[in-house]
Amino acid sequence: MQLNKNRYSLGGVDLLETAQKFGTPLYIYDAETIKRQYDKLIVAFPEVKLKLKYACKALNNINIIKYLKSLGSGLDTVSIEEVEIGLKAGYEPSDILYTPNCVAFSEIKKAVEYGVTINIDNMSILEQFGHEYGNTVPCCIRLNPHIMAGGNSHISVGHIDSKFGISIYQVPLIKRIVNNHKIKVTGLHMHTGSDILDADVFLRGADLLFEAAQNFTDLEYMDFGSGFKVSYKEGDITTDINKIGKKITANFKKLTKHYGRELELWFEPGKFLVSESGVLLVQANVVKQTLSTVFVGVNSGQNHLLRPKMYDAYHNIINISNTKGSKRIYSVVGYICETDTLGYDRKLNEVKEGDILAILNAGAYGFTMSSNYNSRTRPAEVMIINGEAKLIRERETLEDQLKHQIDIGL
Ligand SMILES: *Cc1c(COP(=O)(O)O)cnc(C)c1O
Repeated sequence: MQLNKNRYSLGGVDLLETAQKFGTPLYIYDAETIKRQYDKLIVAFPEVKLKLKYACKALNNINIIKYLKSLGSGLDTVSIEEVEIGLKAGYEPSDILYTPNCVAFSEIKKAVEYGVTINIDNMSILEQFGHEYGNTVPCCIRLNPHIMAGGNSHISVGHIDSKFGISIYQVPLIKRIVNNHKIKVTGLHMHTGSDILDADVFLRGADLLFEAAQNFTDLEYMDFGSGFKVSYKEGDITTDINKIGKKITANFKKLTKHYGRELELWFEPGKFLVSESGVLLVQANVVKQTLSTVFVGVNSGQNHLLRPKMYDAYHNIINISNTKGSKRIYSVVGYICETDTLGYDRKLNEVKEGDILAILNAGAYGFTMSSNYNSRTRPAEVMIINGEAKLIRERETLEDQLKHQIDIGL
């Protein structure tokens, strides 16, 4: 977001005007920011065959998914529905990785029919896969390196109690199943969680995967998942992409030499690509002074942006209607009948009822985690591309919510 002559803009588009034009609450995504983030990753791994698979659960509007395709990205999907959206968006099946967890084998079979790459996350599915397909369908195996990473226990998925992946200590058993059924394992995968602070933790996981690679002879790629952290507030540590890039590249080259074949290096970033591109514009409905606090109640809440409530996530908030007023302390809260604080004790330029507030870094896990709680409708979505704000999702209506309910005539 740029501030120029007291007006905030994003991708060259004035934000207050956009709020007026499309109404609030409104999600806005800037294509240029997505490209900038995409390029950062590409530049950090110059000497390896790098492939990025956008993890579309972060933000699944088909226009965003198509835009990432236009940048050269593949797609990481976690449900058969995401696979189908990816195919609709025009991805080649070979560019889609399907990384489900605890799904029925019937869903895996469907994904095989679509021709996408299957990432297997448990022994039971591996056995069924081997029994069904033998060596006719290659697959990837999701290993769990048991590394405690991730900013919050809810988003750590690689630790010892995690439900994700097959334990790296079970490689001997994997090998036995693979050899028995002659399964063609073309990739190894790990994903240890979101918001990884320490690049070294990430690298330790990578080294374990390198070690495991020696047990498989058909490998074509290694997938190191994601977890790249972005900055939500000033002073936040972000994942040092260049440090990870240098170290992983060096180790990866050693590995491929040892392995005797050049492998592709894959990542599946979600948040890193789209978080900073997004803002959620909301309107201040009421300014409410209590004995201890001044609340700003806005026309949104946990139903549109769940991260503060679910992960204690911090999202910067700016009053874009008043860029010069004196700063006061507010708690910004939603209109849901829950304590849905969006920002606690925030210094904002004085807020008047009717002002538009921008909640930053709302591109990832914003809209995709939204709900109809309290029978509220979901916001519209706008994409800024080539200096133009384009509506990419209509605002939901009450009819949309009632559409699937059946009145049994009571
Ligand atoms: C969610 C997820 C990602 C993306 O994680 P981010 O923290 O958003 O980058 C990547 N891979 C898998 C398997 C995931 O489940």
